[in-house]
Amino acid sequence: MVNRVTPGLFARYPTPQALADAPLEEIEETIRQVNFFRNKAKSLKGMAQALVERHGGEVPNTLEELVELPGVGRKTANVVLGVGFGIAEGVVVDTHVKRIAYRLGLTREEDPERVERDLLPLLPPESRVVFTHRVIDHGRAVCTARTARCDRCPLNDLCPSSAVVVPSVAG
Ligand code: SF4
Repeated sequence: MVNRVTPGLFARYPTPQALADAPLEEIEETIRQVNFFRNKAKSLKGMAQALVERHGGEVPNTLEELVELPGVGRKTANVVLGVGFGIAEGVVVDTHVKRIAYRLGLTREEDPERVERDLLPLLPPESRVVFTHRVIDHGRAVCTARTARCDRCPLNDLCPSSAVVVPSVAG
C-alpha cells in the first residue's frame, strides 16, 4: 500500500519545501490508505520541515543526522543510507530480516538493534544492502512468518531450523 501511495505523494509535493508548507489535513488525505496515516502525515511534515530548516532541503547522509529527523528510526536511516547513498554503515533489520536471521541461527536476539549487531561482523560492507533485499524477498516468497517452505528453500541443507531431513553423506 505504501508503494501505491508514494507516487501520488511525491507528485503532489515534489520538494521538501512543498511538503513542509502543506496543510497537515491535506497530507493526511493524500496518504489515508496507509495504516496510521495521521501519525505518518505528522512525521512527513515534521521531517520535511527539519530538512528545510536544518539541512537546506537536502537529505543528510549520516546515520546520526537521519535518526534526528521526525519519524526516522535506525531501520529507515539504514535504508536511506544504503539505497540512496550506497553507504552500508549498518544492516537494515525489518521483520523479515529479524525472523530469518533467527531461523538461520545467525542471531539469538529479538531486538532489531541487537540483531543488527550480530549481523554486522558476518557481512562485509559491500554485501549488506543486497543481503537485506535478498532476505526480504526470501521472507515473502519462501520463509514467510506463517509458513517456512523448507522443502523448496535453497538453504535447507544449511539452516538449523530446516524441516527437511538432509540425507547424510556417509549414508
Ligand atoms: S530452511 Fe526453512 S526455516 Fe530455514 S531459511 Fe529455509 S525456509 Fe526458512
